[in-house]
Amino acid sequence: MAAPTEADCIFCKIVAGDIPATVVRETERTVAFRDINPQAPTHVLVIPKAHYPNAGALAAAEPELAAALLTEAAEVAAEEKIAESGYRLIFNTGAGAGQTVFHAHVHLLGGERFHEGLV
Ligand code: AMP
Repeated sequence: MAAPTEADCIFCKIVAGDIPATVVRETERTVAFRDINPQAPTHVLVIPKAHYPNAGALAAAEPELAAALLTEAAEVAAEEKIAESGYRLIFNTGAGAGQTVFHAHVHLLGGERFHEGLV
């Protein structure tokens, strides 16, 4: 069972309001905020408020909360008006895949021509 928060986790600090973030949506169990280093015109991170180190650990422990990240990502895409033009959801898992923050999160990437040059 995951701890609800972890002391040195930057995303737990955002959930707690201890460090600022540009929050675009919040539910009882999730928060969506703009990535500080955007890789696309729209780049939002959707996270569970509870601390899990990655998406797989979250899904194993709380599958309905993992599903809620996808629901929330779709809601943010609609609010950001990129649902029709298209968007990409990415879960990096492990340092070898580029994960740098070990609190589960999904990247929502979209906006004009963002995908050119990507896989
Ligand atoms: P990942 O590489 O999948 O672990 O993604 C972590 C993401 O968190 C990166 O895209 C960072 O730019 C982003 N990030 C790190 N610190 C913050 C912060 N304080 N506020 C918003 N985004 C952040």
